[in-house]
Amino acid sequence: MPDNPNHVALARAYQAATDWIDGYATRPVGATIGAAELRRRMRVPLQREPMDAAQIIDDLVAMTEGGLHGSAGGRFFAWVMGGALPSALAADWLTTAWDQNGALYTTSPAAAIVEEVAGEWLLDVLDLPRDASFALTTGCQLAHFTGLAAARHAVLQRHGWDEHLDGLSGAPRIRVLASEHHHGSVDRAVRFLGIGARNIESLETDRMGCIAASTLAHALEKYSGPTIVVLDAADLNIAAFDDCSVLVPIAQAVGAWVHVDGAFGLFARASATKRALLNGVELADSWAMDAHKWLNVPFDCGISVVRDRAAHRAAMTLTASYITAPEDTRNQIDWNPEWSRRARGFPVYAALRELGRDGLGDLIDRTCAHCEAIVTGIGAMPGAETVWVSQLNQGLVRFLDTRPGAEAADHDRRTDRVIAAVNAGGEAFFSGTTWQGRRAMRVSVVNWRTSDDDVSRTLAAVRQALAAAAG
Ligand SMILES: *Cc1c(COP(=O)(O)O)cnc(C)c1O
Repeated sequence: MPDNPNHVALARAYQAATDWIDGYATRPVGATIGAAELRRRMRVPLQREPMDAAQIIDDLVAMTEGGLHGSAGGRFFAWVMGGALPSALAADWLTTAWDQNGALYTTSPAAAIVEEVAGEWLLDVLDLPRDASFALTTGCQLAHFTGLAAARHAVLQRHGWDEHLDGLSGAPRIRVLASEHHHGSVDRAVRFLGIGARNIESLETDRMGCIAASTLAHALEKYSGPTIVVLDAADLNIAAFDDCSVLVPIAQAVGAWVHVDGAFGLFARASATKRALLNGVELADSWAMDAHKWLNVPFDCGISVVRDRAAHRAAMTLTASYITAPEDTRNQIDWNPEWSRRARGFPVYAALRELGRDGLGDLIDRTCAHCEAIVTGIGAMPGAETVWVSQLNQGLVRFLDTRPGAEAADHDRRTDRVIAAVNAGGEAFFSGTTWQGRRAMRVSVVNWRTSDDDVSRTLAAVRQALAAAAG
């Protein structure tokens, strides 16, 4: 059926997608055009008549040219952005073509069962309690929301309050203790949940970026009301792991709920060489992770895991006459904040199968080694300095203003200038951060695609940008 509009539009999309992937080797990694040019191209008048589907796809491909980042390619090290494994990408396409509503077993039996199995596999490879409940959310942000909603319900219940029925006005104040390095998505989840940003207390960390036992114990002593402790596994600047084997028992002994931000770091449980960094993480009460980072599933997919199934279900479930499930099946709506939703289980299931247990461990080890090679390689260049060689896959470097008398602010400016020069060069792409009051360049490696050759090309590009900046 050559003129079936579905076939033609999908065929054009297939061609554009494979061209895009082939272009990772040669195209500039970062976008080369900005808002003004994109608006000029895309702000066409919305016409009155319908338009041909294939033409729309062709136009989108032309209009976005230069406006997309090669973030799923092998030389993109900004933020923490995963790539897409081949089977996960293809399964994600099928998910769209099948267009299932992943809310209930009855709205898509296959979507419900694939998600059930993907959840079992995740608990297994992450080595979390096998009887914990889970949800596949849009990302770690909503995984925090889900886990902390369960936490809020449990800690208020222990103090004789039901916020589901009575709301939060008049409820005992909930206090949240979190590392000074906690991710902004934790603050947002706390805000969404009506706990209030003022009730987050940031705890000082030690030289290694971790909360000390005495710091946590002291903070817990100050308040005997409902308390939630958020621990990092790991933070995104230096991949600092709070020591769960020590901290979780201290918090739980006084009735606090422990939630772990393991957006990418929890996947290190799958590596035989790295898993000791996460000793005791399995003792926590809830965990939030991302599939779209280290598992290399296309955006978007997060993972919420909760030990107390009853609290998790109570926080998310609802009753409506048409929401039923045959015995022994799982309605995703009982565990997720969404109602209608994408069938996120298909790409997660595909990625786990494509890698296998050993392959997931290899991916973790390989990306960590690439991160170390980039950080130490740049750190050894004249005019550069290693700030943090990571034990995992996040490291920091900075660039120095070598003029006599240069001060910290000059080094900061130089660092931002070199980052911009590397990104403008098109061979690699990095983001900056402020670490202990100083600017630094983050090196974040999570992509399955990054190869030894990508590492060499990246080091050459940084060397060149540095030389140009010095000249
Ligand atoms: C990425 C990240 C988040 C937020 O995850 P999203 O998937 O973007 O919602 C939270 N915490 C850490 C440590 C992260 O790296």
